[in-house]
Amino acid sequence: MKLHSTKGFVIYAKKMNEADLLLSYITEDYGKITCFANNARKSKKRFLGKLEPAMLTNIKFYEKPGMTLDILYEVDLVEDYKNLRKNIDVYLFLTKLIEISRVLCQERDVNKNIFNLIKNIYTGLNKLETLNSQDSRQTPLNPILLKFEIFFIANLLKFTGIYPNFTDCIICGKNNAYNEFGFSLKKGGVICSPCANDKNNGFKYLEIKKMPVNFINLSNLMIESDISIINKLNVKEDILMDCSAFLRDFLTFHTGKRLKSFETV
Ligand SMILES: [Zn+2]
Repeated sequence: MKLHSTKGFVIYAKKMNEADLLLSYITEDYGKITCFANNARKSKKRFLGKLEPAMLTNIKFYEKPGMTLDILYEVDLVEDYKNLRKNIDVYLFLTKLIEISRVLCQERDVNKNIFNLIKNIYTGLNKLETLNSQDSRQTPLNPILLKFEIFFIANLLKFTGIYPNFTDCIICGKNNAYNEFGFSLKKGGVICSPCANDKNNGFKYLEIKKMPVNFINLSNLMIESDISIINKLNVKEDILMDCSAFLRDFLTFHTGKRLKSFETV
């Protein structure tokens, strides 16, 4: 029985039986893994206080022959981004991040970029001075969180290979030079208006969404830059909200799942 060791972030925890837990992690070396933690809710030494979201932990687990789930053996805390659990708005963003990661990432699909994306976002959010300040005259938090959200989702879409095609009409290939094309959720890409209106293509009017203003530029910039872009970008809050809603609709359609974390807003 070989013991594996890697760093990871919890993205899912479910109670099983009296004291056991089912846990999913985004790990540095194994992609998403789901493991069974025997007696986790009682074993202080091995698990207690180390299974919260927004903690970087080193986990040890092993595979058991004949079992589909890995067995979690031990967890050690590496870094606690505890400011993320102090502020309700940041916490709500955190629940979005983990739900989207859980839905989009495949088991054992190794991708260090996703692990690093989450790590950079946690580090960035944990450092936000606004979180540590009760002073309401500080920069409002909401636009900053929206930028983190768009940065996260756009990059996750890129790393999971489902970043939409915004460049060319998905039917005829015409270039979307002025970013004026509509978007087909069903096709996962932009559509020029002659193709959208061509009855032979079978689109119903409501199936083509108008893209939010500046969304394509913003999203492309987010996937071409590192996380410092968040502090450099000055975008109005209502535009950010439209972009967030567009990404939510895209994710919901693409995954076929209701994203509960978006419904609390
Ligand atoms: Zn076209």
